[in-house]
Amino acid sequence: MTRLVLLGPPGAGKGTQAARLAETLQVPAISTGDIFRANVREGTELGVTAKRYMDAGEYVPDSVTNAMVADRLSQPDAARGFLLDGYPRTAEQVVELDRVLAAQDAALDRVVEITADTDEVVTRILKRSAEQGRSDDTEDVVRRRLELYTEQTAPLSATYEQRGLLVRVDGMGAVDDVTARLLDAIGVPA
Ligand code: ADP
Repeated sequence: MTRLVLLGPPGAGKGTQAARLAETLQVPAISTGDIFRANVREGTELGVTAKRYMDAGEYVPDSVTNAMVADRLSQPDAARGFLLDGYPRTAEQVVELDRVLAAQDAALDRVVEITADTDEVVTRILKRSAEQGRSDDTEDVVRRRLELYTEQTAPLSATYEQRGLLVRVDGMGAVDDVTARLLDAIGVPA
């Protein structure tokens, strides 16, 4: 059973690494960004709400995000463990995640912060933008996302560090190397 949170700035490679770790650990990778984007594509009410915020680089309100994650974590496949990518991102989301897990008699095993330098993440995102055309990957919006990360999400690593749950992994370099570092950090033999 593995319950993990991946922290790290936009462009640090969380999504890529989450998919790889999930495969190895045999638990679902739950990406709030992916769930929002799927809802936008399907034109759901949640998608319509989320899109307004995402396109501006703002966080979707906690009430909306928390309800969505609580629902996702209540699904049977998450009972065996999970890897959260992009959640929690605010202090209020940390409280909500604690509440949801406590209600299931569960707790996080580890929080992994993937570190990356700002110049590198901006370069990566602008490259991804050219390849994938994500509507929130324009330069102004990326800047806002990074600003919010610094203000609201980066401080969460201190919270988890105080709980003795945090490990930091260098997200720079080749994708395979970062995966190997991550597996090592969570104690899984490569
Ligand atoms: P990135 O990590 O590159 O910013 P994501 O796909 O994780 O990309 O998130 C895209 C957008 O989805 C965010 O900018 C935000 O608007 C919204 N979002 C994702 N996760 C959360 C969250 N936990 N709380 C609020 N908004 C979120």
